[in-house]
Amino acid sequence: MRPAVLFPLFKPLSSLPGLGPKLAKLAEKLAGPCAVDLLWHLPCGIIDRRFAPKIADAPGGRVCTLTVRVDSHVAPINPRHPYKVRCTDETGVLELIYFHARGPWLEKQIPVGTTVVVSGKVEWFNTTLQMPHPDAVATIESRDEIEAVEPVYPMTAGLPAKTLRKAIRAVVGEVPELPEWQDAAWLKRRGWPTWHDAIRRAHHPEDEADLRLSAPFRQRLAFDELLSNQLALTLVRLQQRRLVGRATKGDGRLRAKVLEVLPFALTSSQVQALADIDADMAAERRMLRLLQGDVGSGKTVVALLAMLNAVEAGAQAALMAPTEILARQHAETLAPLCKAAGVDIALLTGRDKGKARTAVLERLASGELPILIGTHALFQEDVAFKDLAVAVIDEQHRFGVHQRLQLSAKGRGVDVLVMTATPIPRTLTLTAYGDMDVSRLLEKPAGRKPVQTATIALDRLEEVAAGIRRKVAEGARVYWVCPLVEESEQLDLAAATERHAFLRATFGDRVGLVHGKMRGPDKDAVMAAFAEGRLDVLVATTVIEVGVNVPEATVMVVEHAERFGLAQLHQLRGRVGRGDKPSSCLLLFDPHLTETARARLKTLRDTEDGFVIAEEDLKLRGAGEVLGTRQSGLPEFRLADLAEHGELLSAARDDARLIVERDPDLASPRGQALRTLLYLFERDAAAKTLRSG
Ligand code: ADP
Ligand code: MG
Repeated sequence: MRPAVLFPLFKPLSSLPGLGPKLAKLAEKLAGPCAVDLLWHLPCGIIDRRFAPKIADAPGGRVCTLTVRVDSHVAPINPRHPYKVRCTDETGVLELIYFHARGPWLEKQIPVGTTVVVSGKVEWFNTTLQMPHPDAVATIESRDEIEAVEPVYPMTAGLPAKTLRKAIRAVVGEVPELPEWQDAAWLKRRGWPTWHDAIRRAHHPEDEADLRLSAPFRQRLAFDELLSNQLALTLVRLQQRRLVGRATKGDGRLRAKVLEVLPFALTSSQVQALADIDADMAAERRMLRLLQGDVGSGKTVVALLAMLNAVEAGAQAALMAPTEILARQHAETLAPLCKAAGVDIALLTGRDKGKARTAVLERLASGELPILIGTHALFQEDVAFKDLAVAVIDEQHRFGVHQRLQLSAKGRGVDVLVMTATPIPRTLTLTAYGDMDVSRLLEKPAGRKPVQTATIALDRLEEVAAGIRRKVAEGARVYWVCPLVEESEQLDLAAATERHAFLRATFGDRVGLVHGKMRGPDKDAVMAAFAEGRLDVLVATTVIEVGVNVPEATVMVVEHAERFGLAQLHQLRGRVGRGDKPSSCLLLFDPHLTETARARLKTLRDTEDGFVIAEEDLKLRGAGEVLGTRQSGLPEFRLADLAEHGELLSAARDDARLIVERDPDLASPRGQALRTLLYLFERDAAAKTLRSG
């Protein structure tokens, strides 16, 4: 259970001063649902209000804090003109300028005859100094209300900066003293402050240098976060190992049948990966293995052979995919191979209901059904296996540690194989899969043709469409992926629908549309029409991102490519170049693109090596984005930046291992403090693996 000392940090945002239900929603979108999320919402700038000149000495364009007498209020005759408050000091005249002002309210706020302190950006207008809409106005007595150095936070539209600042200040003010979870000697060596001081300092920067990720208190906060991540992974791993595993060893008879009908020989990477898997499964402990390989590198066949190993041993296997389309495709790919081996398989997705579903569940529970393929519908409570021995999870980074634990709870000592097509950089493997062993499929995907990649400005859309028309006339099949509009599925959809209409006007009715909001059967129908060649062009939102296999497709168009991550673009490009014809990929970008953004796309033009692209992606963007964790539930770091704090990550890993080795139950005083750390960073799933104490 979450320690009581943390309760104030896990209050909902709406309980904070100034955040009513509406503003709390905006703040939640910006930072997250709890007070603690505001704590992690660190300033990105400062406004220095310490500069307090006389009026005559105030330079235009700068933020100044001025002490002035209020002489008169001048209401405008024409409401389009501003309301002015004339003030003076012994050196000159300052006018406070308000558009759309409420005069009576201002007269009360800034009464004539008083002396006030005002802060804001000033401009000279002839011989008069003007301050349009002061940031702050205070009386002489309350001048301390104006912060000398004001933190500037990343904003969202509709949420006033002042409101956000006030809410954050309230949270920071309530931050409890927490027991020290870091090693004392290590803190001393790094010269890092306590957590409490670090978080206060982070929210009260005194100068630009305090905003740097390399500032000692920022490093401390980053290390706390990384340690919580590594500790959680280490604990989950320990938990997995502690649970009794099972030795599963097939006799190879089913595998032999499949290998016989495969039209190819396994690559040496596949053979090696299988050897790793066989050794894991044969051992008494549980397998926790990550199978990493580019799109098309042949992970599916490895997964099947791993599952058959379990079936040969008289047990069951499950394969879970992140989307319905993928689950279906896996089922279709594997069905003929399983048939050759005389092994029954079934598909279970959220769409299956009623009798058919019940029938599958019954055969599963009786053990009659050896292999089940599905989506996260497999997690549902009534899905019970007779004897699940191995679970394969495809494209794991959409699921996360928590689900990994959930699926393996469906059997006794279940071996887990996770497959990912994202070529994850080493540093990220550590944060996302630190608890797993890794096998990699390194060979170029079988039968892959290089894909000609071009980057083209979007204002040449007509030209692109004309080029596509020529290709289609030659028999090409084309994917057209539509702009990803930030944070709005609705807008995504609008853009895709509009493009669909535009392309229909050009190409006629052999243009289809598929998007995430569509009902399953409709989606399937469109995908099938494209796969079977009844459609020439498939307009899609990113639903086609992973796994879809249409070898006849030879052109990939991505609109607003700059809005995608490189790894994501790499995945999209992997949809073409699968057949025997030459393929091409057109990355259409916003003509107003910055140099850096262009450089990013150029990486894609220059290489098809997924690992090179992934490393580049990590350098150019944050880790959270590379892993696509926003939708996924995997660690998205709020305080650590792996490009800046990478060195701290390996230190955190070493520390976590040492901690768990010495104090696996986190029972010592430091161990207890570390439990608080886990809850602070919401690694509850990992903390719950611990015995209470
Ligand atoms: P992944 O799941 O890694 O994206 P798949 O397993 O879907 O890749 O494999 C892509 C294609 O390559 C499939 O058509 C598969 O039959 C084929 N394939 C797999 N292994 C080999 C191999 N060793 N040699 C040739 N083709 C292979
Ligand atoms: Mg696959």
